Amino acid sequence: MALSLFAIIALVLILARAVAELWLSRLNQRHVRAHAHEAPSAYREMIDDATYQRSVDYTLAKSRFGDVVTVFDAALLIGILSSGVLPWAFGVFITAFGKSVWAMAGFLFAMGFALSIVSLPFAWYAQFKLEDRFGFNTTTVKTWVVDRLKGVLLAVLLGFPLLVLVLKLIEWTGSNWWIWAGVLVIAFQMLLMLIAPAVIMPLFNKFTPLQEGSTLRERLFALAKRTDFPTRSIEVMDGSKRSHHSNAFFTGFGRFRKIVLFDTLVAQLAEPELESVLAHEIGHYKKRHVVKLLGVSIAGVLVGFAAVAWLARQQWFYQAFGFEYHTGFAAVNVVPAMLLFALLAGTISFWFSPLIHLWSRRFEYEADTFARTTMGDAQPLIQALRKLTEKNLSNLTPHPLYSGFYYSHPTLLEREKALRTPG
Ligand SMILES: [Zn+2]
Repeated sequence: MALSLFAIIALVLILARAVAELWLSRLNQRHVRAHAHEAPSAYREMIDDATYQRSVDYTLAKSRFGDVVTVFDAALLIGILSSGVLPWAFGVFITAFGKSVWAMAGFLFAMGFALSIVSLPFAWYAQFKLEDRFGFNTTTVKTWVVDRLKGVLLAVLLGFPLLVLVLKLIEWTGSNWWIWAGVLVIAFQMLLMLIAPAVIMPLFNKFTPLQEGSTLRERLFALAKRTDFPTRSIEVMDGSKRSHHSNAFFTGFGRFRKIVLFDTLVAQLAEPELESVLAHEIGHYKKRHVVKLLGVSIAGVLVGFAAVAWLARQQWFYQAFGFEYHTGFAAVNVVPAMLLFALLAGTISFWFSPLIHLWSRRFEYEADTFARTTMGDAQPLIQALRKLTEKNLSNLTPHPLYSGFYYSHPTLLEREKALRTPG
């Protein structure tokens, strides 16, 4: 098969992303190594030499592992697309199961499953070797295996019917199918957000309401009330079941909303610090960040489906990757486009990630400012951020280009500076 223009474009996109990722990673590793002998002056009192050294080692180990994954992913993608394995598997599937919507959904599902199997050894290594070496891993082999089985089960129970319905819409609604499919997927996402705290998250973790009458509970509910943030419950999640890393978030809508603190976070922070973290989370809600992010995700779904619908009409696109174009408009002609889109979309969206992260960092500053105003003092949040940085062995000296590209949160130095600047 001669390389068509589109196959060449795909190859360039895959290589360009891989090269950019490796280059940024190298830049960052060098920067970290250059500062490895001593912590930045602002943090010398906060972090001891041994801990700083461990944060350097952890950063470099994660970064080197990430490089291996980058190279493997690019090679795998090029291998999959150039070997003709996809059109071959598609042909085998059609011969065996026909072109029904169920068979087509089954094909997409089987491909997704096969790809996730390939990435399993990396997930295993990251958890049981890398995280373990730095004392973060608390996941048992059993928990790890059961987590994955639950994931597959959820995908079968929720994802598969959704996929079938999307493909059915192609038959029912014709060439405007992508609008209907987009609306369906968005509605499904909203439903998931609504039911996840009650139905899905408890499958993986235990949630315990903060002890009635405890000073922490009173302090946090007083904060929720003061900031007019209606919440029914503040719960502690057993994050320590999987890792020593710590976090906090809120989830759900309206009366289903709950604030969740990792047990690891509760253990690491003092009460005023926990309050400031919660104030930061409430800030995200008050500044309507959640709604804005939802808007972006809705736009993303619609753009994605529009792209798939457009690609599905291009015969050259099919020929480029060795797929046969079937006569008549049906799911059988859209499914290869969906598959190729799923494989290649990341090579384009990668270049937009700095913009998304820039936006996300602005939200973080706004939430920090909200927390400072609510607490009347920046100190508790600064203390909390410092502790979290230290406990999670976060990189204190990322290269500015690297953090600018990848970081959804400003660095500790940047956040402290903003928190100390009045206004
Ligand atoms: Zn935040």
